[in-house]
Amino acid sequence: MVDLSEDDRKELDAAGIAVASSPLDRLDFSEDRARLHLVDGTVLDVDTIYPALGSDSNNALARQLGVNLSDDSCIIVDAHQRASVSGIYAAGDIVMSLDQISVAMGHAAIAATALHNDLRRRDGETITRKAS
Ligand SMILES: Cc1cc2nc3c(=O)[nH]c(=O)nc-3n(C[C@H](O)[C@H](O)[C@H](O)COP(=O)(O)OP(=O)(O)OC[C@H]3O[C@@H](n4cnc5c(N)ncnc54)[C@H](O)[C@@H]3O)c2cc1C
Repeated sequence: MVDLSEDDRKELDAAGIAVASSPLDRLDFSEDRARLHLVDGTVLDVDTIYPALGSDSNNALARQLGVNLSDDSCIIVDAHQRASVSGIYAAGDIVMSLDQISVAMGHAAIAATALHNDLRRRDGETITRKAS
């Protein structure tokens, strides 16, 4: 069950959104609508069910590497997906953003380009150093 604050409840009430106070026991899709059976015996008929599950990112590796994390445990990156530790790039849900596939793919493209350019720059510096 989501723990709603008094303010949340007031806002929901003002918007005409009902909040079920009991956990879900089971779903019934045998009729042309979805029927929710709550643990306290309440039965609700609805047109559509949209699950809002949320997600917890596994940042254990990031913590081991010592990269800076935001308050909500995501990796902080610059505009090129670079983390605070040189050579570490991050993309997708582990970065604070919209948790969506298209966003993760965009991050990956930006990170791959930055990685490529950073390696070329580093190779250039190595070649220059060797030549001198
Ligand atoms: C139920 C649900 C429905 C969703 N529906 C949609 C939708 O309709 N449209 C949409 O755009 N997005 C949707 N999303 C969000 C979408 O799935 C994510 O935004 C997307 O998968 C993020 O991709 P990612 O590569 O960052 O992370 P993930 O897809 O989570 O991949 C991360 C991978 O890294 C692995 N991993 C983690 N730690 C380590 C480690 N230390 N070593 C090795 N491997 C590790 C994990 O096991 C996982 O396989 C949904 C998410 C959920 C949970």
